[in-house]
Amino acid sequence: MKPGKPADRSVGTMKEPHLTPDEIVLWAEGLLPAVRALHLAQCAECFVPAERERVLFVQLSRLEHLAPSRGFAERVMERVRIPTPSGGHERR
Ligand SMILES: [Zn+2]
Repeated sequence: MKPGKPADRSVGTMKEPHLTPDEIVLWAEGLLPAVRALHLAQCAECFVPAERERVLFVQLSRLEHLAPSRGFAERVMERVRIPTPSGGHERR
């Protein structure tokens, strides 16, 4: 428990604290608990930065999808390995 603001139980969900930057990221990833997502739906102050974060997240995931996966270059190089010319240097 953090000292400071007294919890007002009678008000219930009406005075949910604003989302933290971490929670906004969670929301963009679809991992935010429903209780907090509900606050977002009712609070323009939280929704604006959250929507910005979500757009950013979508763009990033698209980039990751388009970008070659790790090891891609290595796998390509294996496939296109130039066969060493045989002949001329064979030992007997
Ligand atoms: Zn808010």
